[in-house]
Amino acid sequence: MPQYDYDLFVIGAGSGGVRASRVAAGLGKKVAVAEDRYLGGTCVNVGCIPKKLLVYASHYSEDFEHAQQGYGWTLGPRSFDWATFIAKKDTEIQRLNDFHDRLLSNAGAEQVWGRATVAGPHEVRVGDRSFRAEHILVATGGWPDVPDFPGREHAVTSNEMFHLKELPRRTVIVGGGYIAVEFAGIMNGLGSQVTQLYRGPLFLRGFDDDVRSVLAEEIRKKGVDLRFDTNITALEKAPDGSLRATLTDGSELAADQVLFATGRRPNSAKLGLEELGVELRANGAIVVDEYSRSTVPSIHAIGDVTDRIALTPVALHEAMCLVKTLFEGKPTAPVHENVPAAVFSQPPVGSVGLSEAQARERYDAVDIYRSRFRALKHTLTGADETTMMKLIVDRESDRVVGLHLVGADAGEIVQGFAVAIQCGATKAQFDATIGIHPTSAEEFVTMREPVGDA
Ligand code: NDP
Repeated sequence: MPQYDYDLFVIGAGSGGVRASRVAAGLGKKVAVAEDRYLGGTCVNVGCIPKKLLVYASHYSEDFEHAQQGYGWTLGPRSFDWATFIAKKDTEIQRLNDFHDRLLSNAGAEQVWGRATVAGPHEVRVGDRSFRAEHILVATGGWPDVPDFPGREHAVTSNEMFHLKELPRRTVIVGGGYIAVEFAGIMNGLGSQVTQLYRGPLFLRGFDDDVRSVLAEEIRKKGVDLRFDTNITALEKAPDGSLRATLTDGSELAADQVLFATGRRPNSAKLGLEELGVELRANGAIVVDEYSRSTVPSIHAIGDVTDRIALTPVALHEAMCLVKTLFEGKPTAPVHENVPAAVFSQPPVGSVGLSEAQARERYDAVDIYRSRFRALKHTLTGADETTMMKLIVDRESDRVVGLHLVGADAGEIVQGFAVAIQCGATKAQFDATIGIHPTSAEEFVTMREPVGDA
């Protein structure tokens, strides 16, 4: 009689949980995965995927304008219908939910619907069912975190933005991270009047300073009222349903929708973890070792609930490493260095490696290569949007240690260059690479003169 019913019990069928479940099941392991909300987690349902669809939808306004201004198109009357688009988006999300369902079933992983709690180092309960597993994996993700202030209940989070009944005429967005800048571009492109408030002097803390300041300029050019050193202290609802925000300087701002994109908290509460001795950080993140093992050796955690790097591809990588560690006899620690990232702002940002400030701290001397130009497309549209590219090179080894781009297709371009950075490419190797003409990306292999050093 085996000691356990399952080799692996996964709590949470988001990006990381589904990947770990199906790969472990594919190896012939007995796997169950519990979920109580939706298959595919935040990314599929209220994150990356619907967000990117919204970005596409919102880009058309500018594309139509550019076609007319610069490329000889004559366009008839045009309008955007929020409800039609949201219905199409929902159909696609449903298709992805079904796809995840099939992925799990085809791999032979059992799905258990309901809220799971950990009842012992090897025991999970879902409703009145109990499951004994050799390994438990917590992959429960995160949840939007809204600070306390009078009128907080009138604000929405990114979760609700995907299901609004109508496009707000005036949107106020609080926050200066990924979600805030992405929604500022989306709502602005769709025709809402957008004000974005960030509490500090410059948003996107942690990104390269040139990226932050250039993006702020470009976002303002597109018509977003971007205000720094400002926050909301109170929110009131008027009898007509509109909202009135009081700001830190005492002034007031009217809005039809207020989005708080002020960060996300790991989803670790009420899972029974602390009672078992699983250590959590102050923000609820599960403390794990380099192999994603919690302080209880049979309980593991990956993805946003560990608050390492909250990105889907990182959760997938952590899942693959965990399966290798637990079931293939190859202890594999996930690598959290040189993780490329894109912010789907308008224009978008792509980054891999170190910011200039981080590089200057780590290396004795760095060379900075920077270029800012108007992309070919806009020579005809007349738009004053500019592209910014930046390389950071460690002078001693000649390795490119940071690469940053603000401009069209940033995510697509930087994904390719991330391979070069991962391989430790030097500036000389960048220089020896022939460009593709005419593209913006060729600038990364043709920048010859450093603009500054330390
Ligand atoms: P972030 O942590 O990126 O940003 C949170 C923002 O809210 C920061 O600007 C922060 O300011 C501000 N903030 C925090 N608390 C308060 C407060 N009390 N009052 C006012 N402002 C506050 O979180 P997001 O919610 O934008 O996104 C969560 C994570 O999801 C991201 O970090 C990213 O990992 C992931 N994500 C990735 C995307 C992508 O890959 N394109 C897209 C969307 C999300 P400060 O900097 O001063 O602390």
